[in-house]
Amino acid sequence: MKSPQSVVILGGGAAGWMTANLLHRHWLERGTRITLIESSAIGIIGVGEGSTPQLKAFFDEPRCNATYKAGIEFSGWSDKPGYDRYFHPFPTDLDGFTQRKFFYATHARRAGRDVPAHPDPFFLSTRIAREGLAPLTPRNFPFTVSYGYHFDAHLISAFLRDFGTARGIEHVDARIASVEVDEQGDVKALVADDGGRYEGDLFVDASGFRATIIEGALKEPHRSFGENLFNDRAVVAPTPIPETGFQACTRSIAKSAGWIWNIPLPNRVGNGYVYSSRYIDSEDAAAELRAHLGLGEDAEVRHLEMRCGRIERSWVRNCLAVGLAQGFLEPLEATALHIVLATVNAFVAAWDVGERDAFNAAIARRYEGIRDYLVCHYRTAQRRDTDYWRDATSNHALSDSLKGVITAWFTGSDLEQEVMRQDIGGYYPPTSWHCMLAGYGNFPDQEKLKPPGADVALIDMAEVERFVGGCAMNFPPLSEVLARLKEAA
Ligand SMILES: Cc1cc2nc3c(=O)[nH]c(=O)nc-3n(C[C@H](O)[C@H](O)[C@H](O)COP(=O)(O)OP(=O)(O)OC[C@H]3O[C@@H](n4cnc5c(N)ncnc54)[C@H](O)[C@@H]3O)c2cc1C
Repeated sequence: MKSPQSVVILGGGAAGWMTANLLHRHWLERGTRITLIESSAIGIIGVGEGSTPQLKAFFDEPRCNATYKAGIEFSGWSDKPGYDRYFHPFPTDLDGFTQRKFFYATHARRAGRDVPAHPDPFFLSTRIAREGLAPLTPRNFPFTVSYGYHFDAHLISAFLRDFGTARGIEHVDARIASVEVDEQGDVKALVADDGGRYEGDLFVDASGFRATIIEGALKEPHRSFGENLFNDRAVVAPTPIPETGFQACTRSIAKSAGWIWNIPLPNRVGNGYVYSSRYIDSEDAAAELRAHLGLGEDAEVRHLEMRCGRIERSWVRNCLAVGLAQGFLEPLEATALHIVLATVNAFVAAWDVGERDAFNAAIARRYEGIRDYLVCHYRTAQRRDTDYWRDATSNHALSDSLKGVITAWFTGSDLEQEVMRQDIGGYYPPTSWHCMLAGYGNFPDQEKLKPPGADVALIDMAEVERFVGGCAMNFPPLSEVLARLKEAA
């Protein structure tokens, strides 16, 4: 298809500005004009401080008060002795040396043999975070380590805005009051409350949870994920950097009706309690967050509503939805901006060949693939102390795909094969599934385990320790790296 001559983007949050910059890069040479309209009176949501390694290529220099992220630590999600916390590591080239051993150990333990199968000792990213190191591969080290960033959600949009406007993206501050749709059902123009009228060939709805164009004007239905992801609210509060410094990871701490995130930035720690309003009200949630953070009863907090689910089709007529207007999965794995990137790149490729249906199906599968991984966290967590956790861990609203994964794990089958067979490894690779299921202690109870026996090849944990520890020695302390960056800024 011919590239559009003019693109109008509604929304100047992170999703709108990422899309503007990406489309500009892809279509600059074809002469496409890009206009982004946002309303400073409405503002942006201003949360979303975590990311995934896929986003690293986009924000390749740590700015925006950014810190490094080697993975996510989950604690309090399991009451099983020895499994009170585990780390979901971002991948490294070196995982090939230990991952096989880990998979083998989980297989033996699932089969009832008493062998160590907790994920943490096996992965370099885990060690890097735990030892306060930065996941920056030293120059003389011939392997790469993936990492993501934590960043300030307000600064990221401003940074992308400055980057885009300097390259010719037009920026308009106006509040859109109505959307004009022609007889065929295509969007014709956005009309602002000051009378401004913005015509385009292609429109991008990045208007946040409002979904003004895709849902408001084009009436595309929204599919809720509420039956298998219970959390629909968040309460957030920043705290100062602890004197002990911090590690290159997000922390996710399970609480009575959800979980709390801690995200370290150079100037503050971002914290938020993601919870279900069916199980706790906003005041009690705020009190639980304040107590967890050691804040006084009057400490200021901010309340947010979340709508988990996705729009039926992301590309409808001449409109593409991105960001919160397109869909939202609760932030446990911090995937929102990574989905924006994947959506826009796939959209540009699909536009050229006119493959709208295939594009929409692929985006829907991506949302559902990530959703299943999130649902698995709750379904297989080993915590039953409140109604929330009892309901979450016995939730039967599972997709066939997730049932297949869970069945493979509990019947002692090859989980890696199952992930490959279903072709879902692009959303979460076999390592991530193994780490989660093993990390919560989804094994027979200790008293039921039998000694390994001669048929089980014992993993030499001292050798694993020497290997992972030896590799970690090459990485610089996080505090030194951040101090250098601060000095250079
Ligand atoms: C509790 C919580 C935690 C999160 N954590 C993470 C995380 O760790 N990692 C991650 O990747 N994501 C996270 N997210 C998601 C992340 O916040 C969003 O995906 C990201 O900020 C992009 O938002 P957006 O640009 O789609 O919407 P918004 O930031 O809401 O922007 C919407 C834009 O549309 C404009 N607008 C709306 N209506 C109009 C109108 N009528 N006229 C003109 N302009 C209009 C607004 O002014 C604004 O510019 C989290 C979200 C929540 C709720």
